[in-house]
Amino acid sequence: MDATRALTPDDLPPGALTRRGGADSRHTGGADSWRTDGADSRLTGGADSRPEAAAERRDAAVRAAVAQGLVGPDTPVAALLDVAGIRQSAAALRSAFAEVTTAPVLHAFAVKASPLVPVLRLLRKAGIGAEVASPGELALARAAGLKPAHTVLDSPAKTLAELRQALALGIAVNADNPQELARLDSLARSAPTRSAIGLRVNPQIGAGSIGALSTATATSKFGVGLRDSGAREWVVRAFLDRPWLTRLHTHSGSQGVPLGLLAEGVRVTYELAEEINQLAGRRQVDTIDIGGGLPVNFDSDVENPTYAMYARLLQREVPGLFDGRYALVTEFGRSLLAKHGTIVARVEYTKAAGNRRIAITHAGAQVAARTVYAPGSWPLRIAAYDDQGRPKTGPEIPQDVAGPACFAGDLLAENRPLPLLEPGDHAAALDTGAYYFSHHYAYNSLARPGIHGFSTGRDGTVRFATVRAPQTIDEVVAESGGEHTRALDAL
Ligand SMILES: *Cc1c(COP(=O)(O)O)cnc(C)c1O
Repeated sequence: MDATRALTPDDLPPGALTRRGGADSRHTGGADSWRTDGADSRLTGGADSRPEAAAERRDAAVRAAVAQGLVGPDTPVAALLDVAGIRQSAAALRSAFAEVTTAPVLHAFAVKASPLVPVLRLLRKAGIGAEVASPGELALARAAGLKPAHTVLDSPAKTLAELRQALALGIAVNADNPQELARLDSLARSAPTRSAIGLRVNPQIGAGSIGALSTATATSKFGVGLRDSGAREWVVRAFLDRPWLTRLHTHSGSQGVPLGLLAEGVRVTYELAEEINQLAGRRQVDTIDIGGGLPVNFDSDVENPTYAMYARLLQREVPGLFDGRYALVTEFGRSLLAKHGTIVARVEYTKAAGNRRIAITHAGAQVAARTVYAPGSWPLRIAAYDDQGRPKTGPEIPQDVAGPACFAGDLLAENRPLPLLEPGDHAAALDTGAYYFSHHYAYNSLARPGIHGFSTGRDGTVRFATVRAPQTIDEVVAESGGEHTRALDAL
């Protein structure tokens, strides 16, 4: 069939999963079904896409956040999200793939990178779906209005209840392993579904520079390792035995994995799809999910690599993937959001110890656990602002930018040349829009900061909207067993 034929999920009758197969094998979702709520006229935010423009918007937002009291003596840390920047990245992603293929492409944002309902809704309106990996993430996507046809469930540990729910909703599911596939066998027998079902494979092509984020190593916990003895034959047989298994999924890693290695993982997966389809004698694998993983440049405001670079590389390395025979799913996370977030923290005190200048701020491990615990892998740019939120000038002096937590390693930056920070100034951690709002670290019972989306007008005015309210101290107490104060008395 024509892979580009428009097909809405509603075209698929209940039972499509069990009835799919044979010559009328079809996509669950084609070009039109994956086109979300219509092109938002503000898709690109009408904003300037130069890196300098992003920096100007950020400076204006920090200034306004201080002026409007979003950050101040009583709210000493807050996070800001550049809405125009997010819209630009979404538009850049869509156009990068539209340039290289006419096949339907679902861009499913990896929710773990920014588990915030208003952000998921913003992305949805910009034509981006959701990749979810837990009941919580699925609930966030649904709260943001994501349709099942625009949602993909991955996760190595899906429970029977999660699988049942996904199939009932018609959400695409990528099975991680043979045991999960066996569960899907019995679910598929007992209840018809319109979900597209895929299998995650691990091309075992090796690691990038950050071991913890490299998912395509020989011993990775994800997917079916294709190079293990007998595994490839098992995968092929698994497809031939299950006419409803129509997708292959791979995700070779995140930050630290070079583009060439990502493309290699996609190529291995594509070749497997070709092999399966040849043996099946039909287009059984109709969709390839290439995962996410585009690395982000944390050194400057320049976006490098870009989606366009990656899409062109893929087209060169795996041309068959783009000739229209396969629908595509992507699952980018970090690269869509990282550049658009800023954590602004007030400098509470400054001091010197052992000849080292130290600025003690309110941003540390609670907002930047990865940077604090693995600074070599996750260095962040820090920008200095004065007490009014204006960029601070003056000679750069090496100083530590410390957080509020009670352990010595709680540093956002060590020995970093910056204009000398003083009490009442602000230190901003840049490029923190992805993942930094996902793993709040509750050490010292430090509250989660508020997150504020912003847009800037041509006249320089900045408007804010609350994305996530700052956590209150009462909430900290409540989630720390506050309702069970006497629970241990009786034991
Ligand atoms: C984390 C993850 C992603 C997103 O990775 P990024 O590096 O944020 O783009 C995509 N797919 C899967 C399966 C993941 O686990």
